[in-house]
Amino acid sequence: MFESTRSMNCFVCGKEKQDFEVWSNKLVIGITYDSDFQNNDVISNMSDEDIICHHCIIGIQKNVKDNLGSKNNFR
Ligand SMILES: [Zn+2]
Repeated sequence: MFESTRSMNCFVCGKEKQDFEVWSNKLVIGITYDSDFQNNDVISNMSDEDIICHHCIIGIQKNVKDNLGSKNNFR
């Protein structure tokens, strides 16, 4: 009864969404296969019960890539 329309708030932007299960799974996959993503400040501060919306995941992935790019260029 309580679980059918459970909604959660995004850990980053605080927006309430109801399709978080999808993004929870994507997040787990991202964290599992991408150690740079896993090491991101936001991601590493999350608990198991926190969740991030599509928009913020994309933002974090972009930040991770940008950080890697700047590291690689820094010689
Ligand atoms: Zn968000």
